[in-house]
Amino acid sequence: MKLMLCPFCYDVKKLIQEEERVCKCGKVKGQAVTSDNVRVSEKAVILGLNNYSLLDALTNYHSIGYEAGDNSTVDCWMFKHDYHKVERIGEE
Ligand SMILES: [Zn+2]
Repeated sequence: MKLMLCPFCYDVKKLIQEEERVCKCGKVKGQAVTSDNVRVSEKAVILGLNNYSLLDALTNYHSIGYEAGDNSTVDCWMFKHDYHKVERIGEE
């Protein structure tokens, strides 16, 4: 899953195909074009959240109870600015 991080207000939005998402301060916006490609503002930072890692953590969270065990780690990375699955749109 791809998330859009605003470097100005640090808001994070999940990018979806159904609608364009805008950060809290309004300086960056973006939308998923396909299940794998996104179109975002020039300054947006794109984070990849590992779906399998998240599901593992959620399974663990539900199976051992919400207050038991240690905190779980979920894998996440930052895409390079010109990654081929990230299309940039100009500032308005
Ligand atoms: Zn913002």
